[in-house]
Amino acid sequence: MDASAPAAQVAPPAAGNGIRKLAEFAGRAMLAVGLLVLLGWYLQLPPLTRLMTGATSMKATSAIAFLAGGLALLGCARRPRGGLACFLPNLLMLLLGTASLLEYIAGVDLFIDHLFADPEAAAHGNPPGRMSQMTAMAFILMGLQGMLVSQQRMPRLTHLLAGLLLSLGALSLTMAGYGYRIGVIQVLPVAVPTAVLLLFGTLGWLVLQKPMGIMRVAYADSPGALLLRWAAIPALLMPPLLAISIRAAEQLLGWTHAEVIAAVGYLSGVGASAMVIGMAWLLHHLDHQRQKSERFQDAAYTDALTRLVNRRGFDEALERMLLGHRESDHGFTLLMIDLDHFKRFNDDFGHLAGDRALQVTGQVLLGALRPQDIAARFGGEEFAVILPGTDMIGARRTANRLLQAFHAQEWPHRPVTASIGITNSHPGDSAAALIARADTALYAAKSSGRDRACENQVTTISSVL
Ligand code: GH3
Ligand code: MG
Ligand code: MG
Repeated sequence: MDASAPAAQVAPPAAGNGIRKLAEFAGRAMLAVGLLVLLGWYLQLPPLTRLMTGATSMKATSAIAFLAGGLALLGCARRPRGGLACFLPNLLMLLLGTASLLEYIAGVDLFIDHLFADPEAAAHGNPPGRMSQMTAMAFILMGLQGMLVSQQRMPRLTHLLAGLLLSLGALSLTMAGYGYRIGVIQVLPVAVPTAVLLLFGTLGWLVLQKPMGIMRVAYADSPGALLLRWAAIPALLMPPLLAISIRAAEQLLGWTHAEVIAAVGYLSGVGASAMVIGMAWLLHHLDHQRQKSERFQDAAYTDALTRLVNRRGFDEALERMLLGHRESDHGFTLLMIDLDHFKRFNDDFGHLAGDRALQVTGQVLLGALRPQDIAARFGGEEFAVILPGTDMIGARRTANRLLQAFHAQEWPHRPVTASIGITNSHPGDSAAALIARADTALYAAKSSGRDRACENQVTTISSVL
């Protein structure tokens, strides 16, 4: 058996906290940019309304819509059913988009554009203060998406809206700063920050909705899922990046039209080839990993209850890791994990409920670890994790991530916490010495209050939480 083989199963790394963080990040970015731009309009400071030198300014109504959208997204990321606090800001975003579009279509003035003077638009003969038609459409779609997601309604429609918004966001970013004509309609330029925020906001809402269709694939544990998680965003960003770099070259190097066309053709081909090569490499790597991990899936090395590596598999993996460490200087770290007051859990809810909690623990560990980490059931309600190529700083970070994953997990009956002992390997270490050191740290974590990690670097024991 190969010691560097991955744990028996790879759970979706994007699940849980990471996802919520993406939505929170998008919400915060919308809030911050919205506030800055509004301040820029209030103080009549064009650099603040542009946020980028030489760019088109973000309109004040767009900034208000982003402020509202950011509030809604942040609220909903923290509380899935956000209620009115989530619904109303989204409604405001939708109304601002609808009013702006109505102004274009019906030629009426609904007075939403006159909050601040807009000399730039006036100089170009555009309606002052009015957001682009594309931005207005995006706000209508995003407001609707946010309203539906926060009410957990119509998942099919919200996915469709997300798809439309992503393509509209990518188009806005590709055309950012440039107006164009569709038939008789002159489409006004979208500001770069507006286009970026539209993409972020859409992704934020997308990760908050209950996954279905292709989004289920994104959370799955399969090569296709990994491909989607790694390649979808670069693929989405390829056209804008191409457009931006070619425009820059056109301006800086004074390229002719024919040169621009040649560059577009060549760079699109290079981009597509790079994606194909990247995908081929990823699939090959995954297949290699799968072959290695299949050995762990062998019943002889798998714990029947948790589907983690069993004690026998752990002992063999540890010996191999130690051998590797003796022969080269590749160190690793070991975590010993013991569930807190688990006897009481069994006493209160029965052994079958206890078994279920042990299964969930297996999922929590796999979900928070890297594919190359080895998570094993050491015995009873004790688990051991080998972190190859990881130093104490990395191990400490992993231990904290595991503790947080225990907190974030929805447990049957009542929350389960764990205590963790951390130690690092030394050349010449024996398995017994390593486990004894991790055990000492584990007992320190228990006696200092549980639900924490302590470390033991040969002689010193210190609390990390
Ligand atoms: P502490 O916080 O000090 O760790 O308290 P604890 O109650 O968890 O103490 P300890 O680790 O000594 O308890 C182990 C308990 O784990 C005893 C046993 O009831 C339970 N346990 C061990 N293996 C299994 C199992 O396979 N299934 C179930 N349901 N329970 C198990
Ligand atoms: Mg125990
Ligand atoms: Mg215990």
